[in-house]
Amino acid sequence: MKKTWLICDFHIHTDISDGKIPINEVIKLYGEHHFDVISITDHIVDSKCLEKREKNNEPLYSLQKENFQDYLRLLWKKSVEAWEKYNMLIIPGAEITNNTNEYHILAIDIKEYIEPDLSVKEIIQEIHKQGGIAIACHPHYKSNDGPQPFLHLWNNHDKYANLFDAWEVANRNELFNVIGLQKFNYIANSDFHEAKHLYSWKTFIGAVKNREAIKTAIHKNDSVAIFLYRKNNKIKI
Ligand code: ZN
Ligand code: ZN
Repeated sequence: MKKTWLICDFHIHTDISDGKIPINEVIKLYGEHHFDVISITDHIVDSKCLEKREKNNEPLYSLQKENFQDYLRLLWKKSVEAWEKYNMLIIPGAEITNNTNEYHILAIDIKEYIEPDLSVKEIIQEIHKQGGIAIACHPHYKSNDGPQPFLHLWNNHDKYANLFDAWEVANRNELFNVIGLQKFNYIANSDFHEAKHLYSWKTFIGAVKNREAIKTAIHKNDSVAIFLYRKNNKIKI
């Protein structure tokens, strides 16, 4: 297989957690827009936050330990279909979501459930143990965010700088200059929850279209470029 520039998005939610769109429609949308690589990353939410949601009779919007293998099996099945239909690679993942301590971590290509109550360091270790890639999510202020910015990762960035394989330098419409200034390994994702989020910051990776090559490119920050994907872009590579 030849090395080419691949259109990628590694941060996508479906209605399995808090996304608005069922997985089949998400895949169709990305496939029909000629994406090469996507990662489905539904939330695994920390226990204190889940308790609060339960108490308030709110939807949990979280994968559970008990259904996590079913979720992965579904993603693997969908990845076979997407490869055949669109030549699009789907890498299963999850967003380890600790709202109580204010950190969200993308776990790309994991094989088992990861406990969101663990510390950042332990979560990253667990992701790596499973052969996955750990990405720091939306690590700075989002100008359109609600009252709760997730600043733990940024506030401790010296400690975590090299533990993550990459940091989101852009998330949906936001660009985090501070991540660029730190010269951290970077990536840009949509944090997709609904169709309009397709048009947002994305990543190009220059690699062969397979999981290991893509993970290596992210980890080494080798041939990674970000671009803002807008409705009128006609990208054909
Ligand atoms: Zn998040
Ligand atoms: Zn997210």
